[in-house]
Amino acid sequence: MTDCLFCKIVAGDIPADIVYRDDIMTVFKDISPKAPVHLLAVPNHHVESLNDLTEEDAHWVAHITCMLPVIARDNGLTEGFRTVVNTGAGGGQEVYHLHYHILGDVRDANWRGF
Ligand code: AMP
Ligand code: ZN
Repeated sequence: MTDCLFCKIVAGDIPADIVYRDDIMTVFKDISPKAPVHLLAVPNHHVESLNDLTEEDAHWVAHITCMLPVIARDNGLTEGFRTVVNTGAGGGQEVYHLHYHILGDVRDANWRGF
C-alpha cells in the first residue's frame, strides 16, 4: 500500500534500523523504544491488523510467530521477552500495518511500561 509507513520501510523508501529480513517478514527497531530492546516485526505484505486475518494467513502468521523468539535471542533477550500486538483504535493501534512489538528486558528499572 503506497500510503503505509511500514510498507515504505519494507520497500526501503523510508530508512529504518532493520535487524532481520526474509521473504515473509521484516524486523526493525522501534523509533521510540519503550524498553532497552524494542523491535517491530511486520509481514512484508500489507495487512492492517489481526482483524483482517483468515485461516488462509496461517502459514505466514506461523512463520512470524516462530521467528519471534529467534529474533529476540539474536538481539540479546536471552531471558525472555514480551510480545504486544495492538489491534484497532480500542487496542491503541497507531500504525495500520500489522506489527508485533518485541520488548525486553521489561524488568529493567527504566522501563516505562507499555
Ligand atoms: P502501535 O501503537 O502498536 O501502532 O505502534 C506503532 C509503533 O510504531 C510505535 O511504537 C512507534 O514508536 C513506532 N514507529 C512509528 N514510526 C516509526 C518509524 N518510522 N520507525 C520505527 N518505528 C516507528
Ligand atoms: Zn503496509
